[in-house]
Amino acid sequence: MTTNLPQPGDEIHAWKLMGIERLERERRKGPSPPGPYEAIVAPQWNGLCGSDMHIYLTALLGEEKMKVPFVLGHEASGIVVEVGSEVRGLTVGDRVALEPGEGCGRCEDCKRGSYNHCDEMRFAAADGLDGTLQGLYKLPADLCYKLPDNVSLEEGALMEPLAVAVNAVTNIANLPHSANVVVFGAGPVGLLTMAVAKALGARRIIAVDVQAQRLEFARSYVATDIFVASRMKEGESKEAYSQRHAGDIRQSLGIADRGLESIDVVIDCSAAEVCMQTGMWLLRRKGTYVQVGCGPLYVKLPMRIIADRELTVKGCFRYGPGVYTRAIDLVSRGLIDLKPLVTHKYKWEDAVKAFETTKAGKGEDGQMAIKVMIGPPPRA
Ligand SMILES: [Zn+2]
Ligand SMILES: [Zn+2]
Repeated sequence: MTTNLPQPGDEIHAWKLMGIERLERERRKGPSPPGPYEAIVAPQWNGLCGSDMHIYLTALLGEEKMKVPFVLGHEASGIVVEVGSEVRGLTVGDRVALEPGEGCGRCEDCKRGSYNHCDEMRFAAADGLDGTLQGLYKLPADLCYKLPDNVSLEEGALMEPLAVAVNAVTNIANLPHSANVVVFGAGPVGLLTMAVAKALGARRIIAVDVQAQRLEFARSYVATDIFVASRMKEGESKEAYSQRHAGDIRQSLGIADRGLESIDVVIDCSAAEVCMQTGMWLLRRKGTYVQVGCGPLYVKLPMRIIADRELTVKGCFRYGPGVYTRAIDLVSRGLIDLKPLVTHKYKWEDAVKAFETTKAGKGEDGQMAIKVMIGPPPRA
């Protein structure tokens, strides 16, 4: 099974970012032998996302300059090729999803179970660390999650964005049963958020986006209702627009202020200021708003609405303990279907095309891109 995989000691392939929109193939030395609690994995599938795109197009991570060159990739699955002497429950040949961030385990945040906030976090393709777009990748063995037989390696690579969605809907939104949920933004994370809401028994899942095509996809996937965002009128302020937009949504979808048809949870995966404002106008009293999309530093929010209606407004950053396990379980139990999201798959050699497809939002085939994947690197 593992014979075609790069082995410890092999020279390996990697895709490096050299500068803005400049990817280069490289042959390099593989990782040093694993420490007692580490494992070496041969990454098989890598998914691309918005943060990869941001780095690809700007060579910047957030506002910080990353030191190029470095290897991209943080949404990966793989096969274990070596484990450290003290590793238990993980063996060579295991198919795994990789959690790409390692907390220090010693700081206040790690100790209270919020390792996503660890100041010493080492995250793949960030924090000066190489990512998973390479032949071998070394990481702590406890960040390798075994995939059940009925979950493929392709699906395994999607556990990273799914973990973001699972965390947002469960730990942050505390989704009540039979909830009515509005999700702004029907990109991959928005769609996964809708999928988790559905898996956990949401009553209505309303998708809002500016692109009708994305919404049609959302409806065919898991959304119960869709709404193409209203256009801004000439001279209309964002504040006036947002209030009117919320009214349009209410009227068109029969949303009420109170009771069965009111909105319990809004999750914003769009990062657009007007969506954040609209979301708050839509919520019922005591409703919960969760910010998943990463957007501008400052926005204008209807604070009196937040106060008067006692809204809960929460942030959301990556994921924490137990989230990967639950993400994998939801897929394994058939409650979430990841397959429809993979619209484009590219061979390792064609990684540049994968980035270009993600950038364009559609492939050379003209098909809308949701999730774009890059296949396994060759051994030699
Ligand atoms: Zn990602
Ligand atoms: Zn820490």
